[in-house]
Amino acid sequence: MSLVSSLQTTSTVPNQSGLTVAKFGGTSVADFDAMQRCADIIIANPQTRVVVVSASSGVTNQLVALTQEGNSSEQSKALIKQIASIQYQILDKLQNPGEIAAKIDRILSHIATLSERLKLTRSKAVIDELLSQGEACSSVFFAAVLREKGACATAFDVRQVLRTDSHHGKAEPQIETIAELAQAQLQPLLASQVIVTQGFVGADSEGNTTTLGRGGSDYSAALLAEALKADAVEIWTDVAGIYTTDPRLAPNASPIAEISFNEAAEMATFGAKVLHPATILPAVRQKIQVFVGSSWAPEQGGTWIRHKVSSEPVYRAVALRRDQTLLNLHSLQMLHAQGFLAETFATLARHKISVDLITTSEVNVALTLDKTGSDSSGQGLLSEALLQELSQHCRVRVEDGLALVAVIGNNIASTAGVCRRVFEVLESYNVRMICQGASPHNLCILVDEAEAGNVIRALHENLFEA
Ligand code: ASP
Ligand code: MG
Repeated sequence: MSLVSSLQTTSTVPNQSGLTVAKFGGTSVADFDAMQRCADIIIANPQTRVVVVSASSGVTNQLVALTQEGNSSEQSKALIKQIASIQYQILDKLQNPGEIAAKIDRILSHIATLSERLKLTRSKAVIDELLSQGEACSSVFFAAVLREKGACATAFDVRQVLRTDSHHGKAEPQIETIAELAQAQLQPLLASQVIVTQGFVGADSEGNTTTLGRGGSDYSAALLAEALKADAVEIWTDVAGIYTTDPRLAPNASPIAEISFNEAAEMATFGAKVLHPATILPAVRQKIQVFVGSSWAPEQGGTWIRHKVSSEPVYRAVALRRDQTLLNLHSLQMLHAQGFLAETFATLARHKISVDLITTSEVNVALTLDKTGSDSSGQGLLSEALLQELSQHCRVRVEDGLALVAVIGNNIASTAGVCRRVFEVLESYNVRMICQGASPHNLCILVDEAEAGNVIRALHENLFEA
């Protein structure tokens, strides 16, 4: 929601710096061969001077497992071994592994030390330092792969520029400081080399490592693009852009060449993979166009997300977000009273919970929770402490096993017949919650998780294949 309002405060002319920031996700840097493909993408576009990488696929999950309380030494050793084996497989394929091997070994022994330290003190700073090591490895490797292909590339410690607060696990970036630091420390390097840096990672003013929340690398790329006033951000993943829906659910789904920031802002899931709009917020603020494509098949093209687009259809896509939690709050105090919602939202804010959908009646509020960028610690959103705090002023009911389906497009709230068409298709399904009217760009419904696939297929057939 903040994404839409932020559009009003932006400049009117897009950047023309000639700079592209490219981000490669975990599957794109999963192993040596994957990295090779990504290196070719970078070399093919001389505008790409900043590369942001995730940890190799699976590594962050293993690091999260390593930070869990109560691991035996055997369990910890086994996890470190798995992480090492992913790294050594990449190392083995480098032509000149020498100096890189030493760096990777240092990182691996740092992981072992940090894991030991965690057994003595459960410090959030240590956890973040540990979680950041996956990106430390992948950035060192990726720069080496680029150099082996003849590019002048250097791994750069993002903590020099990506300043955040000290909220470990989900740190808040400090936009102005990031811009100053990036201009001073990163910009001058770009004329002569491609800089490869870590997604997901930052540092507070004391230099302690922080993380931006799970899946935070897209956010890192957008933040650096904003700081460096880039022309474009490319998000390279394992799907060829955004589809009219997830092709695994509806085989006739087709790729979308271009969609607007506003549609993107309302789009909870992009094609088969989640790219939450909040993660590209910094790019939207600066009207930096964002590309999403597959590093496995760059020739297939992808989707451009832009401020202005050439067409604005009523139906653009149907998106699905699984694993939704519905929080139903009931209180008679709400009746003709003031401040109940304010209190509820203040509580949620204190627990760093962001609300997705909301409907209200006179004595109930139902809301779904936004899990994107949830804390890196791997804990659930609804902590005991939160539920207890909420229970003090209302009756709380939690429902799981729900899925969010969004019909996305343009002028949805002002076009006659949209609801009739959608609900006709949904005749045989129970719709648990409906949100429509706030945005011209979407109509959201909450359905039983088990029925979600059928709902998506039915809607896609009717709205896009008819
Ligand atoms: N490696 C981090 C994660 O798995 C960040 C990212 O991939 O975007 O959450
Ligand atoms: Mg990832």
